[in-house]
Amino acid sequence: MTAVPLPAIPYGRQTIDEADIAAVIDVLRSDFLTQGPAIARFEESVARFTGAKHAIAVSNATAALHLGALALGLGPGDSLWTSPNTFVASANCALYCGARVDFVDIDPLTYNMSVSALAAKLESAAQEGNLPKVLVPVHFSGQPCEMDQIAALCSKYGVRVMEDASHAIGAEYRGSKIGGRTHADLCIFSFHPVKILTTGEGGMLLTHDTELYEKLIRLRSHGSTRDARFMKGSADGPWSYQQIDLGYNYRMTDLQAALGTSQMEKLPAFLARRRELAARYDRLLSSLPLITPAQHPDTLSSWHLYAVRLDTKRTSITRLALYEGLRQRQIFPQVHYIPVHTQPWYQGLGFRPGDFPESEHYYAGALSLPMYYSLTDADQDRVVAALTEILES
Ligand SMILES: *Cc1c(COP(=O)(O)O)cnc(C)c1O
Repeated sequence: MTAVPLPAIPYGRQTIDEADIAAVIDVLRSDFLTQGPAIARFEESVARFTGAKHAIAVSNATAALHLGALALGLGPGDSLWTSPNTFVASANCALYCGARVDFVDIDPLTYNMSVSALAAKLESAAQEGNLPKVLVPVHFSGQPCEMDQIAALCSKYGVRVMEDASHAIGAEYRGSKIGGRTHADLCIFSFHPVKILTTGEGGMLLTHDTELYEKLIRLRSHGSTRDARFMKGSADGPWSYQQIDLGYNYRMTDLQAALGTSQMEKLPAFLARRRELAARYDRLLSSLPLITPAQHPDTLSSWHLYAVRLDTKRTSITRLALYEGLRQRQIFPQVHYIPVHTQPWYQGLGFRPGDFPESEHYYAGALSLPMYYSLTDADQDRVVAALTEILES
């Protein structure tokens, strides 16, 4: 008899139901595959859910970060600061604009940008006449950064704020949803399949600033407008559009937007299950030599990731051995994140290992365990049993 292989458990995956499939098929049968009514419906549904005034759907969150940086006026001679504990896209958006990047090290408890490190770095930058134009705090794993403190510091020094909330749709800070309060000029979501909800590829910018909104709408589509208020001189005729900025084609399709609107219906259930799974991991892992993710009392995470750290004081097992042991058992964890400043591209810009020690220390022992809506209690028990077996061997 051959043993039936155990089903694979990835670290993240999407949930697509029959209603999602029907919503996409409806668009395929309609008149518009792109630039049609499904876009506005999706934007409205995210704006309503978060409490944001304006929402702009784009092709992915990387494009959203690029457009956001452009709309905030980032260009050559400027700099943008972000967290080293993030996906490279949070930093790359500055380089796309010809600007410089720098990083603010993380808080050792939340793994988010440290408020005290930010305060110190802003103070010395102000003395050197070297302040950034834009700050990109990243709500790592879905846990919001300390946005009131960050917003206060940025307003003191005249720095614009763009939240990278790729992990954090549905997360809450001091009782309000991320994107819904004016902590920042812009807030960005990602709808990649591993994120909380998906459109295949997709992203969105949220803002309360109508001027930024109008600029972003143009930048999403070549920098062109049909709005007489923005045209230079008089229009050539009723067919007329004018290109008044250098924009891109960063549009989302109606297929994707219809999927997004259908996914939004399930968002409260997605979030509830992720929160349940996180609480269950907290409980089931408490006796293992793992540091479970600490939560700041002002935050309610959306739990995109459940990132643990090896407690090296209590085990001699390495992160590599744990990673491989899980994979042998058909469980596929991930590591988030290799600190951005240690990537070869950023080493080429002059950053060095040791520059942001808290993020490097965190990374050395980090492992993201399976976390997604359709993970069953039995799947999660299998993950916990595998961790126990490896760590107690
Ligand atoms: C996923 C992710 C992005 C990029 O999102 P895409 O939609 O894949 O472009 C940016 N920042 C963070 C923190 C992410 O996790």
